[in-house]
Amino acid sequence: MNSKPIDELKKRLRNVSHLVSILNLLEWDRDVMMPKKGSDARAASIAHLAGMIHEKFVSIDSDGLLTDLKRKLDLKKLKDSEATIVSETWRTFDRQRKLPEKFVEESAEAVSKAHTVWAEAREKNDFKLFLPWLEKIIRLKRKEADYVGYGSSPYDALIDVFEPGMTAESTARVLNDLKKFLMPFIARIAASTKRMSAKGPTRGIKGHFPIEQQAAFNEMVARKIGFDLEAGRIDATTHPFALGIHPTDVRITTRYNESDPLYSFASVIHEVGHGLYEQGLPAEHFGTPLAEFVSLGIHESQSRMWQNFIAQSRPFWRYFYPKLQKEFPKPFRKIPAEDFYRAMNKVEPSFIRTESDEVTYNLHIILRFEIEKGLIEGTIKAKDLPKVWKSKMKEYFGIKVPTDSLGVLQDVHWSSGLIGYFPTYSLGNLYAAQFFMRMKKDMPNMNRQIAKGEFGPIKSWLRKNIHMHGKTHTAAQLVERVTGEPLTSKYFINYLEAKYGNLYLK
Ligand code: ZN
Repeated sequence: MNSKPIDELKKRLRNVSHLVSILNLLEWDRDVMMPKKGSDARAASIAHLAGMIHEKFVSIDSDGLLTDLKRKLDLKKLKDSEATIVSETWRTFDRQRKLPEKFVEESAEAVSKAHTVWAEAREKNDFKLFLPWLEKIIRLKRKEADYVGYGSSPYDALIDVFEPGMTAESTARVLNDLKKFLMPFIARIAASTKRMSAKGPTRGIKGHFPIEQQAAFNEMVARKIGFDLEAGRIDATTHPFALGIHPTDVRITTRYNESDPLYSFASVIHEVGHGLYEQGLPAEHFGTPLAEFVSLGIHESQSRMWQNFIAQSRPFWRYFYPKLQKEFPKPFRKIPAEDFYRAMNKVEPSFIRTESDEVTYNLHIILRFEIEKGLIEGTIKAKDLPKVWKSKMKEYFGIKVPTDSLGVLQDVHWSSGLIGYFPTYSLGNLYAAQFFMRMKKDMPNMNRQIAKGEFGPIKSWLRKNIHMHGKTHTAAQLVERVTGEPLTSKYFINYLEAKYGNLYLK
């Protein structure tokens, strides 16, 4: 080895990242472009490439390079950015080497089968069909936790993959604060909506909105708020996503409903938030943790900030509503801006998480977090899930779930082996609120700027405070650094209380 060990490590990491970029591109192509018959061949190519990536990554330490660097790190002999690269690489490496290859293969196979069975079970509304596979996944996940090791709960080892540093206990603490606020708040709103609709139906948005026109409007907004369309694309898929191939090539997708332009708009804004983060990562450090996102929760804070805090606000639509009216004179010319704002911010308890509003959404997540934590800790049995689900929905939302397809079978996550993932959605909201309050303090004119269509300062603030740091700080450090306080649900609660208290409870 002729170069410095840290440079050699960077080189090896970059080589792995090139393969990851190719894998991402294959996946994007599968979801956006690929002809239907290509699906089996593509699955085989993807599995093969994923195996190569795994091998290449673990062989980083075949000559002890990473182990030596880790020793230097422990002796505090590495400077800041080098320390980040080594500690973050070690975190991933250490987890992977603790999992026996046979176990990884068994898990991958189980997940792939469970996913197929789940899709059938959901369609047939047959939980019993899925039950043995769910039980198998829970067994495997507990085993994974045992291999990896944990503090007080096996759930700690699972959430750590998605939200490094968070545990069952720290997650429960912030989410319980939120729950205590949300349950009575949602009940009050539900009672008040009933009063409102008793006075007469609210004006709905009805009409025909051609896809090309929706796409043009969405693209105009995306460009205006700072998404670089020369370093990214927007396409259509069944399930919207954002995917970074490189900070100079970020793909986002949306889906269309020809009778509701806000459907594609909401997902475009959400994914553009993710996309801006990916475009803001420092390209010069590509391939190393310095150019990777901090955690799923921090990633989600970026999408939620744009989608909810900004694009569902009055100042945002003061600027964009006239443009929407011009693009779709029918029906928007006849709908006053304030009615539009209210329609957009409608709150209503509902069965399906992905269709819920920004207030009730978090209670859906809390319910899932409590259940998956219980499953992993052994306090809830998988066979009791339909019952547990229904009773929690009744208790939290006051509604009766009619079928398991509209209940416990609705989400893909558990069948995909994603346990410990759900909380990151709500953590994203909490981070977003805390960052947003700080941003508003730093930029007292923000609302006026938004109303004038000036989004540059927001993008710069996010770049400077969040995007450009990659994984230099952990999520907990980043929140403290930016806002001067550890993560708390206080700011999100204040935000909901002010906005929705005003809309529904005054
Ligand atoms: Zn998201």
